[in-house]
Amino acid sequence: MQANTNNSAFTDQDFMAQAMHLAVQAADIGEVPVGALVVFDGQVIGQGFNQTISAHDPCAHAEIMALRQAAQAIGNYRLSGCDLYVTLEPCTMCVGAIIHARIKRLVYASTEPKAGAVVSQLQLFSLPHYNHIVQVESGIMADESSAMLSNFFKQRRLAHKANKDQKSAVASSSSVIDQSIDAAL
Ligand code: ZN
Repeated sequence: MQANTNNSAFTDQDFMAQAMHLAVQAADIGEVPVGALVVFDGQVIGQGFNQTISAHDPCAHAEIMALRQAAQAIGNYRLSGCDLYVTLEPCTMCVGAIIHARIKRLVYASTEPKAGAVVSQLQLFSLPHYNHIVQVESGIMADESSAMLSNFFKQRRLAHKANKDQKSAVASSSSVIDQSIDAAL
């Protein structure tokens, strides 16, 4: 069990479990399940889940939603001293936002091999020109987060396949109708 740096009775695991609940909310509305929380002094001050499709917003990643809510909560675009918990390794946009927000510590669950910008495809926090250093921790509830994502994509593939099968069944039944019409003429 890892302690967090927020002087609270809650552990990183507790906060990540809350982020996982937010990810479930994303999955419930058909969005890729990613959830995020901003914590200051042991209190959750911002939360979000991925909602790019439903919000028609390419920037509506879980981290951005949580950062926006936290910044509104404290009335400052700089979230100095805050920790961000997210269920998936952040992308390039979110790493940029985390640096702009001056987040103290990033804790993420699983890696994102295709587009992760912390360790997977890029290591943006390691670039020397940023004037803010973010502490990074990972792996907390990684298996749970990966399982949720793979399950989501599996269900989505099955739904697409069922949709396709249904369409081809309709197409073949209409071709039967076409043939009967041809035969009748
Ligand atoms: Zn992102």
